[in-house]
Amino acid sequence: MGGLTGGCQCGAVRFSLAEIPNGASICHCRMCQKATGSPYGAYAPISRDALTFTRGAPKLFRSSEIAERGFCADCGTPLTYRNISSARVSVTICSLDDPDALAPESQLDADNAVSWVRDCLTKPNTQIDDWLKSKSVADVGSHQQPDHD
Ligand SMILES: [Zn+2]
Ligand SMILES: [Zn+2]
Repeated sequence: MGGLTGGCQCGAVRFSLAEIPNGASICHCRMCQKATGSPYGAYAPISRDALTFTRGAPKLFRSSEIAERGFCADCGTPLTYRNISSARVSVTICSLDDPDALAPESQLDADNAVSWVRDCLTKPNTQIDDWLKSKSVADVGSHQQPDHD
C-alpha cells in the first residue's frame, strides 16, 4: 500500500503517512471543539517518524502545557495534534485525501459533547446539487486543493 496522504484546504501543506494509523478516535473536549470549529475533533495517530510533510509545514499552537496543534497558516485547516511528551502524533482524519480511509474506534470526553451532536444527522437533508440550484450557482469555482498532490 502506498500509504495515506493528506493536506490542508489551500494545498500549502501536504503530508504523507509511512504507516497506517491505529486507534483513530474522536474527542469532544472543549479544546478540540474550539481548535476545529466543529462538534469534535477526529484524529488518526501514528508514530512521529511516520509523518512527513511533503509540502510546507504546519504552524504550531501550544494549546496547553501538554499539547501542540498544527494548522495551515494560510488557510487555517487543523492538521495535527500532538501530546508534547508522546512519540506519536495524530493527523485530523478529514484532512486525509480519503476521509473515509479510517473510522474512529473510540471517543474521548463524550460527557462534554454538544447537546445536538447525536441528533443532527437525523435532520432533513438537501442534496448539494439541489442546494446549488436553489442558490443559482452553476459552478462554485473551487479554490480547494484536489485530494491528491
Ligand atoms: Zn492551507
Ligand atoms: Zn480534545
